[in-house]
Amino acid sequence: MPELPEVETVRRGLEAAMVGARLAAVKQRRPDLRFPFPERFAERLIGQRVEALRRRAKYLIADLDGAEVLIMHLGMSGSFRIEQARGPIPGAGVKNSLHDHVAFDLSTGARIVYNDPRRFGFMQLIPRPEFAGHPLFHNIGIEPLGDEFDGATLARLFAGKTTSLKAALLDQTLIAGLGNIYVCEALHRAGLSPRRAAGSLVRKDGTPSARATRLARVIRAVLNEAVAAGGSSLRDHRKTDGALGYFQHSFRVYGRDLEPCARCGGAVRRIAQAGRATFYCGGCQR
Ligand code: ZN
Repeated sequence: MPELPEVETVRRGLEAAMVGARLAAVKQRRPDLRFPFPERFAERLIGQRVEALRRRAKYLIADLDGAEVLIMHLGMSGSFRIEQARGPIPGAGVKNSLHDHVAFDLSTGARIVYNDPRRFGFMQLIPRPEFAGHPLFHNIGIEPLGDEFDGATLARLFAGKTTSLKAALLDQTLIAGLGNIYVCEALHRAGLSPRRAAGSLVRKDGTPSARATRLARVIRAVLNEAVAAGGSSLRDHRKTDGALGYFQHSFRVYGRDLEPCARCGGAVRRIAQAGRATFYCGGCQR
């Protein structure tokens, strides 16, 4: 499943190809993915100019010059690729073309293809004035890569919370788009136990502890490093098939149960928290 850095990498790739272009043709191969496509999907998009491509949590948001915004979500297995020459769907000779579900032909001559083998992704059109209050977006927490994300914000979000730090960081109504992998990695780098109460990072007067400040800084660093790694994988991909969306990372604790901790040499443990696997080192995460 793409996590926030992957989605941000996709956004940057699509932004370069789509912003400023008009949608000259839209082809869809089935009536639905996870949800039905909007009615008259192609008709509502054709002729629209893409003015900006934003990200909110793990949603990609194309601002169109008409009255609507196009929302795209990659689900479990969605990816985009950019083709410079147009062809019919399925693209001749393109692997996985069976799972190419949508193609946007741009006024620039490029074609953006959405591929999704498991079809948990979806696309939606929302009238611009309804965007902020839309059910998909009105209850989403703050962006961990946004300017307002710091120790003081974490303190405000976590004050009085007895739930675990892991669960609080994964709570999408508090912080947007932070997933299991990067929460495990950030907690390891910050030296904080995933089992510690979230509220323990907040001083009695509501100000952030040094731990909260460190955690906020580390979360940004871990995400930014992954985005940077995605950027380099993006450049590699462009040389080959133009696919955007997935890249290999090396993680310090995620998926490394029973391996030695890179920092203290202790054993990385795997536990279950709220039904999700948590990887951490009991030796150096307190
Ligand atoms: Zn350790």
